[in-house]
Amino acid sequence: MKQHAVAALDAARAAHETPAADALLDDVVTRLAAESRRGLTGVLNGTGILLHTNLGRAPLARAALDAIVETAGGASNVEYDLETGTRGSRYDRLGALLRAATGAEDALVVNNCAAAVLLVLDTLARGVDGSPREVIVARSQLIEIGGGFRLPDVLARSGATLIEVGATNKVRIDDYARALSPRTALLFRAHPSNYRIEGFTEDVSAAELVALGRRAGIPVAEDLGSGALTDLREYGLPHERTAREAVADGIDLVAFSGDKLLGGPQAGIVVGRTAPIRRMRANPLLRALRVGTPTLAALGATLRLHLEPASREQIPFYRMLAAPVDALRARAETIRQRLATIDLRIEPVEGYAGGGTLPLAPVASIALAWRPGDGRVDAASARLRCGTPPLVARVDGERVLIDLRTIPPERDGDLTAALEAAR
Ligand SMILES: *Cc1c(COP(=O)(O)O)cnc(C)c1O
Repeated sequence: MKQHAVAALDAARAAHETPAADALLDDVVTRLAAESRRGLTGVLNGTGILLHTNLGRAPLARAALDAIVETAGGASNVEYDLETGTRGSRYDRLGALLRAATGAEDALVVNNCAAAVLLVLDTLARGVDGSPREVIVARSQLIEIGGGFRLPDVLARSGATLIEVGATNKVRIDDYARALSPRTALLFRAHPSNYRIEGFTEDVSAAELVALGRRAGIPVAEDLGSGALTDLREYGLPHERTAREAVADGIDLVAFSGDKLLGGPQAGIVVGRTAPIRRMRANPLLRALRVGTPTLAALGATLRLHLEPASREQIPFYRMLAAPVDALRARAETIRQRLATIDLRIEPVEGYAGGGTLPLAPVASIALAWRPGDGRVDAASARLRCGTPPLVARVDGERVLIDLRTIPPERDGDLTAALEAAR
């Protein structure tokens, strides 16, 4: 506070002005708000992207927040076995829940899916003597995940040699079979979560790849990315391969994110067979990728909500997804009536799941379309972003669009105030 008052006075002196007390106070308030925006702060997500990576992806369920308070607000048994009174393993805490949610034999939780993929490759893509080995991947699956994380680069880091098979649009099981060698360590499959190759295409199913792996005695790993635990057709979306399906196909190691379709905290989850997961546990790299009590607590609570389908919509992502368009329209109408002096209209729009999942599947939604009086939409959306709380909206032509699906109904009062302040 004091430093902002001093800065405001310095600025006035530098301008050789004698500012009015009100102007000085405004300047101090502006400086304070700017500082809080530079730090981490909550925002209203009016973008219509349900899992917006830049806005923190999945919001946590109440039960997940409560679990964090309960365990991380004090000491916990994160690495302590209460029965024997000796050191325990944090990696065992969620094993039972993950086995129940996916049908896998064993599970491991790390910092994010990128870390999970790194650990899978680093562990398996090396011979028992530590010598580098080969990992076979279809050319069409050499993905960049975002944030510059490219599969070929991660593979190179792990010391493995990448063997690309197939063409950009087509790959057949024979391509994999021909690429097998005594140095082959792993068959790797990446789920195309954030892109589609359409048209003249051919792909190898997970089951075919697993059958080949079994015949050759080579493990198969899959980067599933978004990690659905639920059939999204229930919500009118296209089917997204679930972790349980990948496990049922016989994939030895399945990696996915905690904060995408799972709707939990940032985490990377690997589920699969006991033997390769045991090897991953013994990898010293695991220590650098480990998660803390808050993550484990929130993930555990979110998994419990998934295991009880009636409670799934307590997970904010599923609550947002399930909100009927009519309910969004009714909220928009109420807000519009409260702000009668602002040019707000109600428009049907399309949102997206986001988080690199289902890029081609729009989610029908409702937006408040604001036409600012001076016609300056970019300035208007900047005022919304710099408000308290900040509201992130989308500019489209002459309108600032605020999608109601991604704003919790209990925040409508804040949304109304944000619009009022930015008009
Ligand atoms: C999102 C994604 C990742 C990265 O997940 P993070 O949890 O953000 O590290 C990896 N692979 C695929 C296929 C993805 O979609």
